[in-house]
Parts: sequence; structure tokens; C-alpha cells
Amino acid sequence: MVRNCLTVDVEEWFHVCGVGGPLAVENWESLQSRVVDNTHDLLDLLERCRVRGTFFVLGWVAHRHPGLVRDIAQAGHEIGSHGFLHQRVYELTPRQFAADLDASREALAAAGAPGARGYRAPEWSINDRSLWALDVLAETGFAFDSSMAPMRFVGDPRYLQHPHVRSTVSGTLYEFPPMVARRFGQNVPLGVGWGLRMSDPGRVIRAIEARNRSGVPVALTVHPWEIDPDPPQIGLPAAQRFVHYFRLGGFRQRLERILRGAVFAPMGEVLGLPPVSA
Ligand SMILES: [Zn+2]
Repeated sequence: MVRNCLTVDVEEWFHVCGVGGPLAVENWESLQSRVVDNTHDLLDLLERCRVRGTFFVLGWVAHRHPGLVRDIAQAGHEIGSHGFLHQRVYELTPRQFAADLDASREALAAAGAPGARGYRAPEWSINDRSLWALDVLAETGFAFDSSMAPMRFVGDPRYLQHPHVRSTVSGTLYEFPPMVARRFGQNVPLGVGWGLRMSDPGRVIRAIEARNRSGVPVALTVHPWEIDPDPPQIGLPAAQRFVHYFRLGGFRQRLERILRGAVFAPMGEVLGLPPVSA
């Protein structure tokens, strides 16, 4: 039986790439933190559905809420890195990216989760402008990446849609793309964000089944703020507003149906990596 991946990018509602003003990094400390409660809600949901997932935790969140990282790990989920400061990779230099990775791993280790071996870039920002990042990930000991989206704008529709091995100057690295579907003449994010939130759960499950019949596992991605019962509203540019707020209502129930409609396991296990010794 093919197992799929439910991944969670553990971040606050205000971790939005490319907007400054009230959501700029210097204001993060003073914004209302909601990540702990929302992530606990997700953990409860996954436990009810008997799903173990992969949680890519932002280092900034791990540093402020180390107990949350422990709770995620103790519930049997895999811990990966979402970077430290939620910056687009292609806007960093390789050296800055390596430093951000180091900081995120240090925060995870300090929270009791050393040895993160999976990475998810903010806003799927490993693309043709930042392929050097795969070298940095392999060089710093990461075993897999899940940051290259086969979609326009954030990635490229020509990217592979199934897990595959990438060669880098520092060895090999697995790449596990998010699930997309052909719709409206282009690839849309059926496994993540607005595409996942707007879709009927039955449609998502059928898409997963079709890929699984070909032996291909898929990756879905959710964020704690997507199931927030009372998400803080803040003025965002139209594109980010759509990505963040479109059809949040009822998503938690739709997600539960999807989680009960397919088989899931942590990404490292799905890729066949050896178990992490505790
Ligand atoms: Zn993120």
C-alpha cells in the first residue's frame, strides 16, 4: 500500500513572505501568538485520524515555544526545519541560507529535537533562482527537501511531480514535491494552500488514489493558522490575502475527511530512510 505525507509548516499567522509594515520581523514579538493552540488542535485532529505526519517547524517558533516542539515529537511525528526567519531562499546568499538553516536546527535541538533531516522552504522558494540551496542542504546533512513546487509563480510546472533523487555537489538529496493537479489549463496546488482548501475532499482523495495506483505517494501541506477558529485579520496585498484567507471556513472538517480517506506516514519513512534513533 502506498503511504502519503501530511506535512505541517509550523509558523504563526503573521509569517507571510514579502510583506513588511505591521508584519515585518521587528514586530513579530509584539503580535498575538496563536501557533501553540492551533498546532495542538492539529495534533488532536491527527491523533483522532491516526495520522503521523512531518512537521517543518520554523526556528523562530521553536525558540519561543520549545514545549510545542516536544509535544509534536512525543505524539510520534517527524520534525523537520522550515528555516529560522521565514525568508525566501532565492533572496538569500548561500552563506545566509546556511546560517538560517544552522539557526533553525539549533533551535530545534534546544527544544529536544536534534538532527532534523528534512527541510521545507518558506513559500516553496527553492526554484531555478536558488538551486544552489540543494547543495547547501546536502552539505549540511539534510536527507530530503520538500520545497520545489511544480507550479507557476513559486516554482515551475515542468518540475517533477513525484519524489525523486537530486544530485548535488555534496551528494544526493531526495526532493518531495507538493501535490498539484491540472485545472484551468495550468497546475494548481491541489495538495496545499488555497487549492486544497477550496477543493471537495472527495476530489482530493480521488486524486491521491489515482497517483497511489501508479505507485506514487503524494505530499499535502497545511498550516496551523488554516484551522484557527478566529484568525486575526490584517490588511495584506491581494495575492497574499487570497493565499492566506481564501476559504478557511470549514477547512478543518474537510481536512479530517481527507485524512480519513488515505494512508499517511512521515516523509522520512515514505522515502525509506532509516529510522531516527531517539
Ligand atoms: Zn511558511
